[in-house]
Amino acid sequence: MELYNSIIEKVDGLLGSSTPRRYAYDPHKTWEDVGGNQLVMMKEAAYELGGDSKPAVNYACVTSGDYVQEDEILVYGRDLKEIAGSVPFARIAIIKVRNLAGENEEDTEPLFRAIQDIDFVKYHVYPKGYMIRSSSDSFREQVRVSKEAVRKGITFEQVGNSYISQFKKNPDVIAVKLIFVTVDDADYAEMKKDAKKVRDITKTLSKILEGMATDCHSCSLKEICDEVEGLKELHFGKEKKEFKG
Ligand code: SF4
Repeated sequence: MELYNSIIEKVDGLLGSSTPRRYAYDPHKTWEDVGGNQLVMMKEAAYELGGDSKPAVNYACVTSGDYVQEDEILVYGRDLKEIAGSVPFARIAIIKVRNLAGENEEDTEPLFRAIQDIDFVKYHVYPKGYMIRSSSDSFREQVRVSKEAVRKGITFEQVGNSYISQFKKNPDVIAVKLIFVTVDDADYAEMKKDAKKVRDITKTLSKILEGMATDCHSCSLKEICDEVEGLKELHFGKEKKEFKG
């Protein structure tokens, strides 16, 4: 599962010049979860991560490479209880999974299903007073944080633990590195490009799975397949297998 590795390798270079705070995963230190959608009204809000049209990027990369050694949360910049107004924001998840291709490397279906399941985690985390608004078209993840949550001392460590505990419900997941960024000098524009690339790779996997035609010259996905090592091999491996049937 190495399709996202070139994106993962870039992450460290995009996070700005500050030294991150690091927290080991602790399932007992999660923030209260309300279990479903919540509304934080403007008058109840302390601030928004990504508010006032500031950057707000989110993407998740799945890998079976050695980029994640253990479950951890990294915070670049001010933490939730230290923020007073709108700030730029990014949340990046790097998720180490067992080798999803297993013995049959040409079968893209388990791979695609696992990536989808992992991606859906972001829609199942509802920290109290931390209202997440995502847009898959613009790759934004904007968060409205309530005054009450700030008063009670909400932190990225707790929110990060909530995310990681959700990820770890999936038996394919081995370890998760969750990165929160609020510094001004991170490269949010490049992160947004990478968020789009992640989406394009996953979309291409989905198309391959649907059994699309195999003429690369006339294919609308050629650009991403030329760029990302392994996609063409997946497609043609699958075709070969179906032909042998
Ligand atoms: S391998 Fe070729 S045909 Fe298949 S999705 Fe990529 S560009 Fe399209």
